[in-house]
Formats: sequence, structure tokens, C-alpha cells
Amino acid sequence: MNNIAYLSMGSNLGNRLEYLHNAVRILDQDENIEIVRLSSIYETEPVGFTNQGNFLNLVMKIKTSYSAQELLEKCLNTEKVIGRKRGIRWGPRTIDLDILLYNQDNIETDSLSVPHPRIQERAFVIIPLLEIEPNITIPKMKDPLYTILNGIPDKEGVRLWKRKNGEDAFELFGN
Ligand code: ADP
Ligand code: MG
Repeated sequence: MNNIAYLSMGSNLGNRLEYLHNAVRILDQDENIEIVRLSSIYETEPVGFTNQGNFLNLVMKIKTSYSAQELLEKCLNTEKVIGRKRGIRWGPRTIDLDILLYNQDNIETDSLSVPHPRIQERAFVIIPLLEIEPNITIPKMKDPLYTILNGIPDKEGVRLWKRKNGEDAFELFGN
């Protein structure tokens, strides 16, 4: 498993913690994925389409033998298994799984943009990412991530919801 990737997850429908838990479990059970670290869980007021419930968000660091495209397929499949109903773009969803970074690669295909093009706008991604990787560098980004975070107006909408204490990835979910 030579590749390092960072994923973000969010849920704002139904039992949000359970959906995150299920997604982490599905990834953990994949022999091509090893979870290295999870962030704390944050609660986030919705941006864009704001007439919807608050999100729970987290970020994870993984090692993987999947290519970026295979990892995307795994993410989309996991969303499907967990029962995300596709509706309004940026609208409510049981689970959203995005690839933030894949090594230091720049990927631009019809189905995949890496680094994820909206990292810079999303405090709910940057805050947990900096929690688990304070010195992370993003390809092509010239300012450090914490500088970018300082310029985002809605970072106050992101609050710590459940603090991560140990190394165990599942400690957040109570088992
Ligand atoms: P968003 O995650 O921006 O809120 P969606 O989850 O609805 O929006 O977008 C899903 C589509 O985005 C996927 O079908 C996938 O092909 C595409 N996509 C492009 N880049 C990425 C990425 N880095 N991670 C996840 N999906 C991506
Ligand atoms: Mg997505």
C-alpha cells in the first residue's frame, strides 16, 4: 500500500453518526485500504443550499493500493451501499465521500479532480485536515492551509462535535 490519500466524509440526514461509522467500517474492511488516522467529528452548518440540516464531517488519512480512479469507485460504491439518495446538488445526503488528496498527484479527468477543487472554500474540510496533518501541503496551492482557513468567512459554522482521543479509528463510534 504505497499511496497516501485523504478522504472527507459528511452526513446530514437521519442517524448521521451511524452513517459515518458505516462508511469507516466499509473502508476499513477493504484489503486495499488501511486507515491511518481519523480526525475528530465536527458539526457544520450547511453552505450553499442552506435550508437543510447540519452536517457531521470528518477527514481520514489512508494508505491504499488502489489507483485514484479505483479509490473514487470505492467511494461512490460506499455511498451507494449506505443509501445516499442523489437529489439536489449540495443538498441533503446520508453520506458524501470525497477524495481530497492522492499522494501529491494532480488529476483532472471527467470523473475526478484531485486535489479536490473546493478544499480552499470549505472550512469543514480544512479544519479536520489540519487537525490530523498540521503540515500538509496541497499541490499548486501557494499559501499554507491555515492562511487559507483564516480567509474563509464561515469557519465559525464548524464546531467540534466529538473529540478524537486515541489512535483507535473506531473509538469515535463507541466500540
Ligand atoms: P460534492 O462532493 O462536490 O458535494 P457530489 O458528491 O455530488 O458533489 O459529486 C459527485 C461526483 O463528483 C462524482 O460522481 C465524481 O465523479 C466527482 N468527483 C470529482 N472529483 C472528485 C473527488 N476528488 N472526490 C469525489 N468525487 C469527485
Ligand atoms: Mg462528493
